[in-house]
Amino acid sequence: MQETIHKTTIPDKVLEISNKLIAEGCSAFIVGGAVRDSLLGFDVKDWDIATNASPERIKKLFYYMTSFNLKHGTVTLVSRGDHFEVTTFRGKDSSAASIEEDLSHRDFRLNAMAYDIIGKIIVDPFNGQKDIRKKIIRAVGDPSARFQEDPLRMMRAIRFSLELGYKIDPVTLKSVTLMGADIEKVSIERIRDEFLKILTAKKPSIGLNLLRKVGILEKIIPELLEGYRKRQNDYHKYSIYRHIMETIDFVDSDPILRLSALFHDIAKPRVRKKIEGKWNFYDHASSSAGLAKDIMVRMRFSNEWITIVTGLVLNHMFDYKRALSDRAIRRLLKKVGIDNIYRLISLRRADNMAHGWGEVSGEELDVFKEKIDALVEKCPPLNTSDLKINGNDIINKRNIKPGPKVGRILQNLLEAVIEDPELNERDKLMEKLDEL
Ligand code: ATP
Ligand code: MG
Repeated sequence: MQETIHKTTIPDKVLEISNKLIAEGCSAFIVGGAVRDSLLGFDVKDWDIATNASPERIKKLFYYMTSFNLKHGTVTLVSRGDHFEVTTFRGKDSSAASIEEDLSHRDFRLNAMAYDIIGKIIVDPFNGQKDIRKKIIRAVGDPSARFQEDPLRMMRAIRFSLELGYKIDPVTLKSVTLMGADIEKVSIERIRDEFLKILTAKKPSIGLNLLRKVGILEKIIPELLEGYRKRQNDYHKYSIYRHIMETIDFVDSDPILRLSALFHDIAKPRVRKKIEGKWNFYDHASSSAGLAKDIMVRMRFSNEWITIVTGLVLNHMFDYKRALSDRAIRRLLKKVGIDNIYRLISLRRADNMAHGWGEVSGEELDVFKEKIDALVEKCPPLNTSDLKINGNDIINKRNIKPGPKVGRILQNLLEAVIEDPELNERDKLMEKLDEL
């Protein structure tokens, strides 16, 4: 018989680790998200075990498994690429601590449940199951004490409420509202990761609006609030802020796309000018790309993501309505790359829908996408590495030294090839080299 929590099968490896702890006279409980998600009938992402054994003892017992010890009190055991966290009970004196004490240090009541491997029962001293039934996110004990210990829990409350569609208990929410500004005390990396989880939920605008109301958004991306209630022009039904929210909700839940939607118009309040009584947002795409870069650097996003997102923001106003030539499309492809051209189309589709004037047919974008499909199939040269000659050819023919000049020549040749792909033949390029 396979052992389950509710209807979720506990993996063999988890049972093996627990049973070994128990055989050695230690306790073993499955804790946290695994118990919550099993009861909810969701897939369990990570299986965490709590025990009264010390980290040293855990390492000794599982000497035959790969392990590491990054977080205080936690040993991560690795088996065939899967990670299992075994954590010593949290508490003042962990050797004497109990599962109840451990649970009392967790964030929300629905996260403060354990599964007792020996007794085969759910340990639920804070009525987490009741909260699940009532669809409520509620802090364990005094919310302000919990948020003081770790202000990131305020963002976690909002994230869980968004992911599960639950309400935040009024007393807990009141605390978040009073303590929102404390989010500043948390490292930007933790904030960023939690923010991304909110941004990739089904309807992020609900979470972002909550973050705004409790004063957290102001601390992490104040630039976004500059567009709050700022009116636009006849093309737009909504304010800048509201339009950004709608765009985020409409676009697919890919983190890159959601970030691009978040930033696509972010500099509009800074560039807006009234011309003949109408708001104009001249060149807002490039200003927004610049501002997006500043914010993403501040939030320590990877350079790779910064390049992709700012590229999408910069090009989001691309012209697809005119009968575009293949040449113009190749230029656009070179700018954003094949990997991201489809993202650019999705972003624009969401942007159009978020103008707020009812159904947008999207037919013109469909036609544009078909053109892209056809062109991508031909694999046009888009990088200097696609050229039929390389840097060495240039060095030999021109009798110059390796260096940035070679790169510039390659770029020039690529520009020429993008204008006319037929030029991408060795002889023709060697000839062209003389002209340059
Ligand atoms: P997810 O895996 O979706 O991020 P989770 O609730 O499983 O959500 P983890 O970070 O995996 O979150 O943590 C596992 C458990 O550890 C949680 O369910 C909770 O009991 C506890 N926990 C995590 N972070 C905190 C925190 N900041 N404060 C208190 N308890 C926490
Ligand atoms: Mg988890």
